[in-house]
Amino acid sequence: MSHHHPDVDVIVVGAGMAGLVCAERLRRRGHDVLLVEARDQVGGRTAGIEIDGETLDLGGQFIGPGQDRIYALAAELGVAVFPTHTAGANVMETETGRLRRFRGTVPKLGPLTLLDVARAQARLDRLARTVDAEAPWRGPNAAALDGRTLQSWIDRTVKTRGGRSFLVLACRAIWACEPSELSLLHALFYVKAAGSLAAVTDVEGGAQQDRLDGGAYGVATRLAERLGDSIRLNAPVQRIEQHDAGVVVTVEDGTAWGARHVVVAVPPPLAARIAFHPPLPAGRQLPMGSVIKYVVGYPAPFWRQAGLSGSALSLRAPIAVTVDSSPRSGRRGVLIAFVNGAPARDLATRSPEDRRRILLDALGRLFGPRAATPVSFVERNWNEEAFARGAYSAVFPPGAWTRLGAAWRAPAGRIHWAGAETSPRWYGYIDGAVRSGEAAADRLS
Ligand SMILES: Cc1cc2nc3c(=O)[nH]c(=O)nc-3n(C[C@H](O)[C@H](O)[C@H](O)COP(=O)(O)OP(=O)(O)OC[C@H]3O[C@@H](n4cnc5c(N)ncnc54)[C@H](O)[C@@H]3O)c2cc1C
Repeated sequence: MSHHHPDVDVIVVGAGMAGLVCAERLRRRGHDVLLVEARDQVGGRTAGIEIDGETLDLGGQFIGPGQDRIYALAAELGVAVFPTHTAGANVMETETGRLRRFRGTVPKLGPLTLLDVARAQARLDRLARTVDAEAPWRGPNAAALDGRTLQSWIDRTVKTRGGRSFLVLACRAIWACEPSELSLLHALFYVKAAGSLAAVTDVEGGAQQDRLDGGAYGVATRLAERLGDSIRLNAPVQRIEQHDAGVVVTVEDGTAWGARHVVVAVPPPLAARIAFHPPLPAGRQLPMGSVIKYVVGYPAPFWRQAGLSGSALSLRAPIAVTVDSSPRSGRRGVLIAFVNGAPARDLATRSPEDRRRILLDALGRLFGPRAATPVSFVERNWNEEAFARGAYSAVFPPGAWTRLGAAWRAPAGRIHWAGAETSPRWYGYIDGAVRSGEAAADRLS
C-alpha cells in the first residue's frame, strides 16, 4: 500500500445490506472494490440461523409495499417473496393479564380510549406530513419539534390512561425505545420516510406484509457470493485517514489499504468509534434502540387451529409484540417475540434460565400451554452485539437532528455515508439500507 497508489478505487466498510449493495453495484460498474467487515459473516442486522433445514431470521425480516428497492433486489437475486401469515384473530393482553381478540392493527380498547388513540394517530400523520424527509432539520417547526420528546407530546395529546399505555407500547414496538428517549421530530421523520403511520404499523398493506423465502439473511449471502474475494471478514476498521489523493483504511490487526474513496456503511455508534483523521466536522454518536428477538419453534403452528393469527400485543411486559414467523413450507410452527425498550434492558439483567422461563410464561399466557413447550428456543439480544450495539436502528434523541442534520448524509471529503440510518426513504429498514447503498454507489460512478 502506498499513499500515492491506492490499492482499490473504493473501500466499503460494513457488509450489512447497505455495504453489500453498494460494493456489488460498484463492482458491476467496473470499479475495483474492497468490502471490509468486522464480523466473521456478512448481513449485519439481518442474520440467520438454520434449524431443521430452515433458515430463520434473527434480525430484520419483513418487507412491504413502497419498499421497491428490496423487492427489486430480491427479484434480481431469485429470492421469492411470500405473505406474512395473518389469517385468524390477533390477541391483546391488558396490563392486568386479560386477553382480548381483535382484527387489524388497533385492538379493542374501549370506545373512549379508541377514539383517543385514533386522534393521536391522525395528528402524528398530519404532523409527519410537515417534515421534509430529505432534510428533517430544516423547516419552520423543525427546531421546536426536535426540542421535544415523543413522551411530552403523548402527555399533552392523549387524554386517557389506556391510550397513553397503548402509545408507549406502540413506541416500543416501532422504535424499540421509550417515548422519553425519542425526539418528536425523529418519530415524525421516521413516519414520513415510510409514507404514513399505517405503512409502519400494518401487516397487510404495511411494512410487515411480506417475507423473503429463506430469510432476509439469504439476500445478504447471495450478494456476498457475487462479491467473492472482494470481501475481507474479521476486519474491524479502526482508523480512516484522509489525504490529498485518497484515504487509508486501517483494521484491527494493523493491515491498511488505500483507496480513492471510502463508503462507511456501519451503524452510527460504530462509525463514531472509528478514528477519523482529520477529525469529522460533526459526530455520529447516537444511541440505538434496545431489542431482544426470540425465535421459538413448535412441531406445528398450533395457534392457527385455535383461530389465532399468532400476532399479539402485550401491555404487560416483557413481550411487546409477537408474529407468526413459520417457514413458508409450513413444516413447523415458529413464533417470533420482541422484547423492546426498557423491558429489554430489564430482562437482560436476569439469568438465561430466568429469561427463558419468563418468555415461555408470557407466550403461554398469550397462546395457551402448548406455547410454553417449544422444540427450539433462540434468543438474540442485539444490544450485546459488539458491531450493532442495538437495533432496529439509531434513535435520535431531542436536539440530535438539529445538531447533526446538515452533516449527516453529506460526504466529508472522500468519506461517504451509507446505511439504513442515512436513507430519507424507509429510514431504519432493510429497504432504506438497500437505497442508501445504491445511492452511495451512484455518487461514485
Ligand atoms: C431484530 C431486528 C428486527 C428488524 N426487523 C426489521 C424488519 O422486519 N424489516 C426491516 O426492513 N428492517 C428490520 N430491521 C432493521 C434492518 O435489519 C436494518 O435496518 C438493516 O439491516 C441495516 O442494514 P445496514 O447495512 O444499514 O447496517 P448493518 O446491517 O448494521 O450492517 C453494518 C455492518 O457493518 C459492520 N461493522 C460495524 N462496525 C464495523 C467496523 N468498525 N469495521 C468493519 N465493519 C463494521 C457490522 O458488523 C455489520 O455487518 C430489524 C433489525 C433487527 C436487529
